[in-house]
Amino acid sequence: MHNYLKTDPWNIVEEGFDPQNQRSSESIFSLGNGKMGQRANFEEHYSGKSLQGNYIAGVYYPDKTKVGWWKNGYPEYFAKVLNAPKWIGLDILIDDEQLDLAKCTVLSFKRILNMREGFLYRNFVVKLPSGREIKAEVWRFLSIVRQEVGAIRYSVTPLNFSGKVSVTSSIDGAVKNADSNYDEYFWDVIAHDISADKGFLLSRTRKTEFDVCIGSQIIPFIDGVEIQVSFESIERSDYVGSVFNYPLEKGRELTVCKYASVLSSLYHDKKKLRMNAEKVLEDAVQIGFESLLEEHKKAWIDKWEHSDIIIKGDEAAQQGIRFNIFQLNQTYNGDDERLNVGPKGFTGEKYGGSTYWDTEAYCLPFFLCTASFRVSRNLLIYRYKHLEKAIQNAHKLGFKDGAALFPMVTMNGEECHNEWEITFEEIHRNGAIAYAIYNYIRHTGDKEYLSEYGLEVLIGISRFWMQRVNFSSEKNKYVMLGVTGPNEYENNVNNNWYTNTIAVWTLKYTLKAIDFVRDAHPDKYSKIIKQCAFSENSETKDWQEIIQNMYFPFDEASGIFIQQDGYMDKVQMRTDELEPSERPINQHWSWDRILRSCFIKQADVLQGIYLFEDQYDTQTIIRNFDFYESRTVHESSLSPCTHAILAARIGKMEKAYQLYLRTSRLDLDDYNNEVHEGLHITSMAGTWMSVVEGFGGKRVRDDKLVLNPQIPDKWESYSFKINFRKSLLKITVSSGEVRIQNESDIAAELLIYGQHFSLSGNKDLSVNRKELAYK
Ligand code: BGC
Repeated sequence: MHNYLKTDPWNIVEEGFDPQNQRSSESIFSLGNGKMGQRANFEEHYSGKSLQGNYIAGVYYPDKTKVGWWKNGYPEYFAKVLNAPKWIGLDILIDDEQLDLAKCTVLSFKRILNMREGFLYRNFVVKLPSGREIKAEVWRFLSIVRQEVGAIRYSVTPLNFSGKVSVTSSIDGAVKNADSNYDEYFWDVIAHDISADKGFLLSRTRKTEFDVCIGSQIIPFIDGVEIQVSFESIERSDYVGSVFNYPLEKGRELTVCKYASVLSSLYHDKKKLRMNAEKVLEDAVQIGFESLLEEHKKAWIDKWEHSDIIIKGDEAAQQGIRFNIFQLNQTYNGDDERLNVGPKGFTGEKYGGSTYWDTEAYCLPFFLCTASFRVSRNLLIYRYKHLEKAIQNAHKLGFKDGAALFPMVTMNGEECHNEWEITFEEIHRNGAIAYAIYNYIRHTGDKEYLSEYGLEVLIGISRFWMQRVNFSSEKNKYVMLGVTGPNEYENNVNNNWYTNTIAVWTLKYTLKAIDFVRDAHPDKYSKIIKQCAFSENSETKDWQEIIQNMYFPFDEASGIFIQQDGYMDKVQMRTDELEPSERPINQHWSWDRILRSCFIKQADVLQGIYLFEDQYDTQTIIRNFDFYESRTVHESSLSPCTHAILAARIGKMEKAYQLYLRTSRLDLDDYNNEVHEGLHITSMAGTWMSVVEGFGGKRVRDDKLVLNPQIPDKWESYSFKINFRKSLLKITVSSGEVRIQNESDIAAELLIYGQHFSLSGNKDLSVNRKELAYK
């Protein structure tokens, strides 16, 4: 754990410059607008440790797989989030001496990520090795209004001298991925041009052939007044730059506004990219920095209007939750069904791919409640569009007749994960994709989704489960062998309780979905049957057979669902018996020791209890929670939130709060010592779930929104908003009451602490917690 940032409700603030923190800060202060993103690398040259990162949504590179021992069925490549050409470069020379924070004495330094208005700000005063002192101020943002535009305003003021300042503005195409398997370049620069203050660089990814054109232009000012300077151009095969010199007097401020247009062939005809990049750039310059920033700030404030969680009485928790919400909204805005939410978003390279089960299990609940339903629908359609590839993927592994196995990690629907125990065995991801359809429909009421897209996906997944189980004559039950559950600290296990549970649930849900589509949309149903070559009678008969005869490991004596066959044979220990110096165990223990131990990486049985909570009574949840929480090391960022929600459900509020803090400030306080690699974007949605589903007790049952709010002792109150069906509700919880404000015209049916309320449009409702609070 490493906490060097100031607590503030709306800002992330770093004061003083410590080069040791630079890579972490580059992650934490990252910017994104759903279409592109970048680490908070400095604009000026920096020779200290840094991970350069600029990323463009949907633009990836298939890096040839590197494994020690090839196994049949492995994907040929791993789709990498691609470090793209860098356009932020603004190198500053002062009388030919380079401004480089790694080589100056930094007299003061402040960096702020303004989350409310969505921009990055930095100021510093430095003494160069020559003794010259300068003051600098920098603003940067990626517009969420014009998603192909980024802008920088960079000012320098000489404090104790007058001298020549030289500014080089560049677009640099010579970029690499730090995680490249074979140390290769992933891009070719195919064209570039520069005239005075304006340059363009057109690059193409190797193999995938995405074209990206970046244009940039700079405009200089002295003390706020635009000046005319003469520019020199620099052109190399993979670089364009504009340089100008200016004799700057002591105390006067030289400012450069740099505008960039970043266009990709995902949205433009390749032949028109250069022309369109110029057009977007010209428009941005015409509008000007201030106005671009104003419209961007306004759009952020509007976004917050809906997605903010306000916590009173706990500033660290407030900052933590806003940071999570901010980063999620920077990563994904849901207007393109080809895009998704990668575990690191636009903040680092690790994990590759853009889509894990994280999206369906964690991100979907966040977007369902805080954004238009189109956003979550697009997340679902993303998988629908990959169904054909999921069928091919299953086929490659020996499944047939339309069985679908969605990938563990993907960019375009093809599997790109290559650890056998995950690629082939961590098949519970299929269940999360089925569950997401159910979750979306129960929340939005959009049942028609089933006939349009959902049923085909459910049939493909159910067919997979049907073929993946086998009948054990010894157990006289169906079993599922050789799997990895969510707990990746166990591989190749038999009868992972969670996987068996979600498989059976999928089969049941698919049967219901079939009934619905057959009855409500007979024409569409006939089409789907034909399309999927589905034999309803024989296939559903097989599914029923599995539903009725599936095996679930259970310990009668203790009343615990057993994580998998053989789990109870392990030496049973609790995490509080572990030496603190040996944690995290994945950085201290050999892999075989981890596999043999009883320690659990992340919610596994508890993930199932969380999803299917209504099937279990409170005592069952308590028993399983106590047993598994004490064995879980939470070495996946996705874990504490699920435990926090269940802890709140069973009234262990202090535990819930501790787990919540760990997820909410995971990156800000760098609990896992890895923030320098990037942020844990997908688990940020879990943090939101901890508040809304954990403390707020939000569920959906029988078409009603259910709330059972509790409040951590430390908090005075908290509030959040939820889109539910067609209504928009603001929920405020304090120790005394729960207040619901219906901010839409549409009435909502609510169940608060078990009591039914019908809340008309634009009306409020207050419930006295002391009288009604759920125990
Ligand atoms: C977790 C997976 C998760 C992946 C990406 C892993 O450490 O165990 O459940 O999908 O990270 O976030």
